Amino acid sequence: MNLAVWLERAAIRAARAPALHLGAGCVADHAAWAARAARLAGALRARGIAPGDRVAIWAKNAPDWLVALLGIWWAGAVAVPVNARLHPAELDWILGDSGAAAVITDRPEGRDGAIPLGALPQGEALPLVSRGPEDIAWLFYTSGTTGRPKGVCITHGMLTAMALAYPVDVDPLSPEDAAVYAGPMSHGAGLYSLPHLLAGARHVVPEGGFDPAALLRLTAEVGRASMFLAPTMVQRLLAAARAAGDRAPGIRTIVYGGGPMYLADLEAALDWFGPKFVQIYGQGECPMAITALPRAEIADRDAPGWAARAGSVGRAQSVVEVAVEAAPGAPGEILVRGAPVMPGYWGNPEASAKALRDGWLRTGDIGRLDAEGYLTLVDRSKDLIISGGHNVYPREVEEALLTHPEVDEASVIGVPDADWGERVMAVIVGTAEEAALDAHCRARIAGFKLPRRYAFVAELPKNAYGKVLKTELRARFGA
Ligand code: AMP
Repeated sequence: MNLAVWLERAAIRAARAPALHLGAGCVADHAAWAARAARLAGALRARGIAPGDRVAIWAKNAPDWLVALLGIWWAGAVAVPVNARLHPAELDWILGDSGAAAVITDRPEGRDGAIPLGALPQGEALPLVSRGPEDIAWLFYTSGTTGRPKGVCITHGMLTAMALAYPVDVDPLSPEDAAVYAGPMSHGAGLYSLPHLLAGARHVVPEGGFDPAALLRLTAEVGRASMFLAPTMVQRLLAAARAAGDRAPGIRTIVYGGGPMYLADLEAALDWFGPKFVQIYGQGECPMAITALPRAEIADRDAPGWAARAGSVGRAQSVVEVAVEAAPGAPGEILVRGAPVMPGYWGNPEASAKALRDGWLRTGDIGRLDAEGYLTLVDRSKDLIISGGHNVYPREVEEALLTHPEVDEASVIGVPDADWGERVMAVIVGTAEEAALDAHCRARIAGFKLPRRYAFVAELPKNAYGKVLKTELRARFGA
């Protein structure tokens, strides 16, 4: 089934219900959205774009981003969303790798033959092109914290499973709800459009980039807002909310994921905002849909074992099986199998064969599974430090460092060492002194995990999605 069928149906069922918003203002109801998508599909067809062809969207968040996405699908083509902040050279690489036949962009300089997002062409409405569950809907270029990004083939079937699991495992939705796109739609936030489309809910695109204070004002106006935020964005929202004395009554749900949320940060957010939080764990290769930790479990801090559960990523979503390649309770690589798992990477059979073995996706994440099915992420396998024969998981050391009040951010890496193979190094943003941090860590973690070297920096290198680039830190300090 073509996912655009959900828009075609919403245009009948909820024709006049508000759909797309720029800020608090509605710019299209479901009927108008569907009509524009169908006419964009007609224009794409007129340009020779056939079902299965790739069309890139290189643009910042905008209501028309969702017209473009659904129009591409309406025509049976494959969307290749690209982060607007990527360098043109990175874009070129993705366009070449995906073999994109067209680019839709908001960049004024554009590209030869590019389609402007602000003036999407409107041809004759195309009847919706039929697609099967195995057909590709979205080429999702991995964030590339290591090496070249790879294009994950995300099919219509995968996204159907993901969207159906959302109200069951993550958060039930109603037409009154509003998806607010705080993060880049080319990544996790864009995937949120699907469960919301299915629910006939509103889609709200803030004007400008991620501005926490503006986001608080906007959500107060639209109400029943639900958004996906990376943990660093939750921290920024919290700081702005505290400064404004604002408990964010317009926000119903904050789904967080994409990176570790440190427990101290989660508690501070719960103290201020109350029970608004749901956690998910996913990756491009199984988008959004590996595990979920529901609202009630995060909020109930008096429940026995709360800290361990809140520190986990929850349990397998209904559409997948999760396994850990290790003895029960021991850390090992996390494996996933089920309908939202990718069939492979675009044009990269070697990488696909490495990631998919015996029907399971190898996530590259290390975790522990307890007897009740709670999965705790320990770290990325490639970030593991082996020092003097001991395994050190950087995240554990980072957690210890972050409980120090004068540490704003911390990233821990392994640097080569003649005696120990690797030794633990901490890169810190904050005003804490080395001696104080050493004493702080000694009181919390085993001696072999202690950072043996510290560096103090003004900021950590991050990719376009806010993830710390450990490869860059290793290159800088590893020599
Ligand atoms: P991406 O494919 O760019 O979305 O990155 C996915 C990776 O982000 C996963 O493989 C994990 O390493 C990390 N990740 C995703 N969700 C979580 C979470 N809830 N907690 C910690 N790390 C996460």
